Order: sequence, then C-alpha cells, then structure tokens
Amino acid sequence: MKIFKLRTIREECGIFGIYNNDDASALTALGLHALQHRGQEGCGIVSFDGKNFHSEKRHGLVGDNFTNKDILKKLPGNFAIGHNRYSTTGETSLRNIQPFFADIYGGGISVAHNGNFTNALKLREKLVKGGAIFRTTSDTETIVQLIAKSNRVKMIDKVIDTLFQVQGGYALVMMSNKKLIGARDPLGIRPLVLGKLKNSYVLASETCAFDIIGAKFIREINNGEIVVIEGNDIKSIKPFTKKKARPCVFEYVYFSRPDSYLQNKCAYEYRKNFGYELAKESDDIGDIVVPVPDSGVPAAIGYSQYKKINFELGLIRNHYVGRTFIEPKQNIRSFGVKLKLSSNNSSIKNKSIILIDDSIVRGTTCSKIVKMLYDGGAKEVHVRISSPEIKFPDFYGIDMPSKSELLAANKNLNEMCNHIGAKTLKFLSIDGLYRAICNETRNKNYPQLTDHYFTGEYPVELVDQNKDNKISQLSLLSGKSTN
Ligand code: AMP
Repeated sequence: MKIFKLRTIREECGIFGIYNNDDASALTALGLHALQHRGQEGCGIVSFDGKNFHSEKRHGLVGDNFTNKDILKKLPGNFAIGHNRYSTTGETSLRNIQPFFADIYGGGISVAHNGNFTNALKLREKLVKGGAIFRTTSDTETIVQLIAKSNRVKMIDKVIDTLFQVQGGYALVMMSNKKLIGARDPLGIRPLVLGKLKNSYVLASETCAFDIIGAKFIREINNGEIVVIEGNDIKSIKPFTKKKARPCVFEYVYFSRPDSYLQNKCAYEYRKNFGYELAKESDDIGDIVVPVPDSGVPAAIGYSQYKKINFELGLIRNHYVGRTFIEPKQNIRSFGVKLKLSSNNSSIKNKSIILIDDSIVRGTTCSKIVKMLYDGGAKEVHVRISSPEIKFPDFYGIDMPSKSELLAANKNLNEMCNHIGAKTLKFLSIDGLYRAICNETRNKNYPQLTDHYFTGEYPVELVDQNKDNKISQLSLLSGKSTN
C-alpha cells in the first residue's frame, strides 16, 4: 500500500504576517503580491478574528485570487499570516499550500514556512512510527506535528522545543490565538524582516512587502532569533548557541526583488557591484552590453558603467508570463524562454554583444538566448555571468537541481561555452562576489555567506540527504505496511 508520494523537499517561498490591524487579510494579500517572485504555484492566508481561525488557499497568483472582496470577507480578524508557494517537483495539490493550520492542545496554531529542513524525513519517520498522521507531503507539516506533540505548556515553549529538533535553512511566521511569532534559522540562511505599520507589527520575507503597504522597515530578524508579538509588545528570544550569521548568497545573486534590502543595502546595489567586479575581471571589449531581462539588468548596468560600453536592450521581455525557471517542469521551462524573450534585432545586428545574466544553472536559458541573438543578426555573443559557477545543489530552500543537471558540475569552461554556443564565456570569481557583497575576502574558516552552490561547503548537516543519497525515498512512507 502506498501511503503517499513524498516530494523532493525544495522550496522557495514568500511569507508574511501582520498583527493588530483591521485590514489584516487585505494587507497580507498585498504583501504576498509584492513577494510573488518567491513563488507562483499557490498562495494562502489564515486569519484569526479573536475566536476562530479562517483559512483560504488557492492555486496560482495572489492577484488572481485574493483581490476580490468576497474572498477577503471570508478572512475576518485583525491578524493574519500568508504564504506564496513554489515547489520544484512533486505534488502541487491544494493540501500542500500553506499556511498550515492545526487545533492543538492549548489552542490553534498556523504556520507559514520558507526554506528546507534537512532532517525533515528523519523526523517524519519517527513521528509516523509514533502514530502521527500526516496530511500533506510538505516538510513544513513536521513543524506543526512537533509543536502539537511537545509536552511544554506555553505555545512559545512548544515552538522553541520544536526548533531545537529541526535543522536546515528556514524562516517561519506563525500565529496562535494570542501571538504572532517569527523565527529565523541559527545561521539566518533564509531571510525575515520586521516592520511596523502604525500600531501593527509586520513580518515578511523581504522589505518590498513593507513598501507596498506603507509599513516602515525596522530591522532584520537576527539569525537564530525568535520574535513574539503580542499587543504593542515585541519580545526577542535567542535560544540557540550564538553563531555568526551566514545568509544565503543566492538571495543577493538572484532571489530577492531588486528593491528589497539585505543587510541594509538594496539588492539592486549588490547586483550592480557584481557587474563592476565582473567588468574589472574581464578584459574584453564588445560593442554593446545586453542584459538578460530581468535577472541580468542590474549587473549589466554595473558592467556597462564600469567599461563605458553602451547598454542596450537587445532582448525584449514579454511581461505577461511568469519567471522562466519558476515553472517546475523542464519541458515547460525550456519552452518558456521563447515565450518570455525576443531579440531586439535593430539594436543587435552586426554587433559584438556582451550578454549578461546573473547565473547559469542547467544552461537552458542561456543556450536559447545566445541562439536567439545570433539568429537576430548578432556578430558575436560573449556571455558574462555575474556569479561564480554553480557546481553544487541546494538543500536549504533554493531551487537548485541535482548535480547531474548542473552545467558547471559536469563541464569545464570551454565545454560550457560550446554548450551554450557563445564566442566566449566568463563567470564572476568567488573573490569578486565577496568583494561586491562584503567588501572583503571570503573568510575561509567561517565564510560570511552560505555559498555551497559555488564551494560545496554546506554549513548545516544534510541529515536526510546523507542517509542513502535518495532524499525522495523513505521506505516507511512508500509502504512497507503489512496491513
Ligand atoms: P538555467 O536555464 O537552468 O541555466 O537557469 C538560469 C536562469 O534561471 C537564469 O536566467 C537565472 O536568472 C534563473 N535562475 C537561477 N536560479 C534560479 C532559481 N533558483 N529559481 C528560479 N530561477 C533561477
């Protein structure tokens, strides 16, 4: 008997929570809309009206689902949390869309999670053996089960008890019938920020969610910090052994919206810096600098300013399709490049082009774009990538495929260049990346960032992955039942 298929647990998501505001669910919808780039597969809001919790979940975009009054009427109350979901493979059913809600001893608890627990399967196996009944195939449900099972009396102690058991990269926004709770993993791999709108505290994955509702950014939640918001009060708890933060480098490279702030600086500025550093490291001269829109634009601006080479829109983006990569399936993804981009032939004809993008993962996007530019009349296409070669997969919440699919894990620079069909190819060095972000060199003993994509150094143990190297298999769940 197969109980259910367990999906490969990788998620990039957007989370949001607001306390003490009459328009809690409408503001949550707006916040999620600003965080739409973090996940487009499904969205959900849970509100609390002082007596009851209310939950609405939908497939698709926030703007298509949470903009009419009727749905917002179903989410009364002055506090709410919300979630945008993205998953790479596996089930896209409604039951996996968050926030999750459960009635447990001591009251209701709702959880929205961005990231990945690297020991979720191990914990889940133990819980299932102990009689727990899982209703989703998401690793986030482990959190809800652990909170429910905790012997501690107060909700916040149940949460702390739970966080001591999970490992990985995570940001959480939770809501009980009294409190809004935010938590960030001990290394601060996944982002979480705190803001204020009049008397309401707000939590979100990125600061762009504050801008849309007019909230003031207060600060980042620190690595390993739990904040508990009740009434006008905010309490900070730091239960873990103190460690230096190591935020995920990919938030800087690609994931965060360019207008969001990371460590008090706009993602856009970091990305322009990547362009400067890349330009410093490249001795080429082309006729024009062309960005891959939108991901390559800030770095291309930096590159063109440094080299004093004209910036041209050699590619035009159709804005009515989602991100190419964000579609979970490979066949849809490769089709998507053409749906999304066209060459702007008048600007590229007979030109030697320096094409800039933020990253090469599988190489699908880049190969198609290079061909498109040659087909459109380009004389030469030189590809410059504003991050180093991605050679290692991710297990902390960014969609990064297995090693066998990563172009740079399987080919050397020349082979990659041939594969994408460019005249030349160059990546930003790791030193250049660190200069652009921290203005210092990488600390070998304790790197300032979580950068395993480029280095293979995983700062949090990969418990499930090391088990038997098959993270999507768990014998217990694939059915060894004798019943
Ligand atoms: P690929 O076509 O597989 O080489 O993917 C590279 C493209 O996807 C680049 O244009 C990036 O901007 C974008 N990208 C890189 N990493 C991610 C990610 N984790 N999620 C979504 N898109 C990404």
